Amino acid sequence: MAGTSVLIVEDEEALATLLEYNLNKENFDVSIASDGEEGLLKIKENIPDVVILDWMLPKISGIEICRQIRSMSETRNIPIIMLTARSEEADRIRGLETGADDYLTKPFSTKELIARVKAVLRRIRPGLADDTVTVGDIEIDRVSHRVQRGDEEIHLGPTEFRLLDHLIQHPGRVFSREQLLNAVWGSDVFVEVRTVDVHIGRLRKALNKFKQGDPIRTVRSAGYALDIK
Ligand code: CA
Repeated sequence: MAGTSVLIVEDEEALATLLEYNLNKENFDVSIASDGEEGLLKIKENIPDVVILDWMLPKISGIEICRQIRSMSETRNIPIIMLTARSEEADRIRGLETGADDYLTKPFSTKELIARVKAVLRRIRPGLADDTVTVGDIEIDRVSHRVQRGDEEIHLGPTEFRLLDHLIQHPGRVFSREQLLNAVWGSDVFVEVRTVDVHIGRLRKALNKFKQGDPIRTVRSAGYALDIK
């Protein structure tokens, strides 16, 4: 789970610390917000890979945070696990309707929580949960930065590697050039959108070096997607 960031929004300090300790042991990068306002700020400041969100929070409720996360395009797809002291079925349904991906009723074991975090990551962003990701005939190893397609080793530059790493997390989804720029180069760097085309071209060429087929789809005036059967 190296490099996977988890934000815990929880006002019970002892619980937040316990979760942080256990998630750190699993190599997640953990940050904590102790009320709703701080939670939203931290999410906007540095978009986490997963949010663990308490239902009852000072200032802004968990439900409201959930709604706001889902309403912003940059944060819409973040997996959210809601924590609650309530156990009524109606609340559970309300939480899921507001956009939470999973739900845990207090008290729960940290082991259970970690299992749920890994499960939502696998389900929603298959590429994120592990050091190696295999989608179709493409396999990437985030630790050694190696890429294989079928039995062939593919050599990529660092930018092409990051592009592929981003695309492979959401197979089939179309990303605009601007979205790819933000994800791969970062939003604070000035890079021309045309640069994305250049690196996509290189990635495409490298992936199809052994004539296994071009897995990158160009969507006219929209962007690019990685399509793998
Ligand atoms: Ca609370």
